[in-house]
Amino acid sequence: MPTESSISVETRLLDLPNRGFHRLGPQTARKLALGITGISTGKDINNVTVEDLLYYLPMRYEDRSNLARIRDLRDGLEASLELFVKLCQGRPVRGWRSYRSRLYIFEISATDRERTGKDVVVWTFLSGPSAPQIIDSYEKKFKRGVRFIAFGKWENDPTRRTFSLKLHKPDEIEVLPSAEEQLPMTAAKEPRATSAEPAPPETDDDPTLKAIHVGRRVPVYRRLNDLRPKQLREIIHATLTAIPDKAIVETLPGDLIKRQRLISRSAALREIHFPSDKAPLDEFENASSPAHRRLIFEELFWMALGLALKRGQRIRESKGAKIRIDDAIKKRIASVLPFKLTEAQRKVVKEIFRDMKTEAPMNRLLQGDVGSGKTIVALIAMLTAMENDYQSALMVPTEILAEQHARNLKRMLAKSPYRIELLSGSLKAADKKRLHQAMASGEVNAVVGTHALIQESVSFKNLGLVVIDEQHRFGVMQRAELRARGLNPDVLVMTATPIPRSLAMTVYGDLDVSIIDEMPPGRTPIVTKVFADNADDRKEVKQLLAREVRAGRQIYVVYPLVEESEKMDLRDATKRYEYLRDKVFPAFSVGLLHGRMKPEEKEEVMRRFVKGEIQILVSTTVIEVGVDVPNASVMVVEHAERFGLSQLHQLRGRVGRGAEQSYCVLLASDKQTDVARERLGIMEETNDGFKIAEKDLEIRGPGELMGTRQAGLPEFRIANLVRDLEILQAARREAEIYFNQAKSSPEAAKLIKRLQGDVRLKLAAVG
Ligand code: ADP
Ligand code: MG
Repeated sequence: MPTESSISVETRLLDLPNRGFHRLGPQTARKLALGITGISTGKDINNVTVEDLLYYLPMRYEDRSNLARIRDLRDGLEASLELFVKLCQGRPVRGWRSYRSRLYIFEISATDRERTGKDVVVWTFLSGPSAPQIIDSYEKKFKRGVRFIAFGKWENDPTRRTFSLKLHKPDEIEVLPSAEEQLPMTAAKEPRATSAEPAPPETDDDPTLKAIHVGRRVPVYRRLNDLRPKQLREIIHATLTAIPDKAIVETLPGDLIKRQRLISRSAALREIHFPSDKAPLDEFENASSPAHRRLIFEELFWMALGLALKRGQRIRESKGAKIRIDDAIKKRIASVLPFKLTEAQRKVVKEIFRDMKTEAPMNRLLQGDVGSGKTIVALIAMLTAMENDYQSALMVPTEILAEQHARNLKRMLAKSPYRIELLSGSLKAADKKRLHQAMASGEVNAVVGTHALIQESVSFKNLGLVVIDEQHRFGVMQRAELRARGLNPDVLVMTATPIPRSLAMTVYGDLDVSIIDEMPPGRTPIVTKVFADNADDRKEVKQLLAREVRAGRQIYVVYPLVEESEKMDLRDATKRYEYLRDKVFPAFSVGLLHGRMKPEEKEEVMRRFVKGEIQILVSTTVIEVGVDVPNASVMVVEHAERFGLSQLHQLRGRVGRGAEQSYCVLLASDKQTDVARERLGIMEETNDGFKIAEKDLEIRGPGELMGTRQAGLPEFRIANLVRDLEILQAARREAEIYFNQAKSSPEAAKLIKRLQGDVRLKLAAVG
């Protein structure tokens, strides 16, 4: 049967049809390639290869090696049955409407080959405007006598008085060709009985018995660009048959494979798609099979080696700036501090000082929960650079934050000889030009601004330190940019999105990590409560707000802005602002702030809020990060279900900055998803940013949490940094071995050379 000529991992998917691939025409090949470009972003459809396809992994597996019979069914049993349609029909469910349209039920009653029991029912619900058409097509497909495989959890169904199987989608049923495809021999045996018997004859060699979809463990793929799971299974099976072992080149060194007891790359790729008969399927389901381990190890090993290389390079670099920190400098710093540092702040300042004093450029990540007091640490580092006659720059994600930091820095250093400037987007061209000149000549000692600070035609006389605040908003790229422009200053990145330490060390393998794990004294924990979006709850919220404003406190009301519907959202926020101002709180001063306002308007609103002239500030998420107005005591988040966990935590962090009791009010519509409900529950439960970050990781995965794309990290094809932490640690240890051996061992040197030439890993090296 296989007419396919042999192929290699580099064969382009678009070329497969020319090679006589069974049931793979040019159109399907295109769809396939296109679907894959959607996943491994940035790939051109013409460059999608067999290897890319082989990395399209099953989302789950089904054990169809033992087909059950109706007679074998018990309530709750998970089993595959080979069935024949007796009757099928779809009909509306009376009295039921789903969200917008009618609800339909679609049912097939069927029997097995030997009619070993009462007809069973396979059924599903359908809704949506196209449901009638779908039902129509299924009624055509499941004509009487059609043979199909149904797999799932069978239930003793009292209303139907037989066993039934509920499907999520009728797609899950596989229709089989009625005559051509013979049932495999194992099908007739008792379920599970095979394991005790001698191995069955090798069926794969016998084309007449060869079955892809039944009589074995089968992979189930997520739909790819309208290619169904079953079609994908056929294509991948044919691909694996056509590719010889030697065409799947081993990428890991032999001694590593031995030490880590890994299986070969080709074995792993075959096994991961079609697990052998004896393999425990649960290991495949939770990605801990030897095949998974091997492929995950490979990815993490190369990343770890890339990061080790990068770090080694930086340690060898010299920053040029010579920083001294003597007692006189320390004393001058102490004299301007507005408060006593916490123990945690002192610890991280020490770590930063140690970095600044060394020859190699500092590359440190400062993590600390919202409100833990990172700003002062940054200001100390900046002052230290200035004391050494170097310029420093503070980069922040928003203009509002830039203004706030500049204000603080100026206030703190009012009596010092240093000139501190704000590079604001609202500067007039002439002023901006003057400021640029002053920075280039060295007259300005410190400058605060958004990323414009390092992007535009800005130059410095002797930039010694760059601090990047709220790093998760920025990405690591900017540092690469700095370096590309010939500057090699100390870099301190600060983030309030805490990442579990082990993960941070690896992901930011090129960064050293400091953590502020203590809040400034005298804080009262914020009370967080979820309210429904109804009249009763809103009344309660209104009372809370009125009480707080009368007590002299201030309030934030935040609206989400979702990119796709930004205009409408903005209109809603503006309307809501007018409503609050005119109808709900006519006696109070209500202000509006959003990202579309001109910089000077934003500054004006913020200034009035800081001074207390505005009591209630209605805003979009422009105030999400960093804003520090200790008198604010209530954060109201509208449509809280539309925000992610770390965003909610950031928003909440705008209050609770003084000693007074603060509140976080999360207004949520009752149409929330389960995930949203879970998020809001977590917010009510804990104020701890580290716990929240861990939950966020669980819910969203690390890529999204850290803005993988932004941060320039490689996208993993199979590894998952949270799930695979143990493999990650092993891979790191191995990477260290090879990195350290690079000079003495030719094999390690070769490995590293290969890595340096591999574009895919360029990304890992950024940072
Ligand atoms: P974040 O870590 O979120 O950037 P900030 O630096 O804005 O936190 O600090 C939060 C608040 O705590 C600010 O009002 C700041 O002045 C105050 N603060 C920081 N450190 C201390 C300290 N050691 N003692 C008292 N207050 C502090
Ligand atoms: Mg901050």
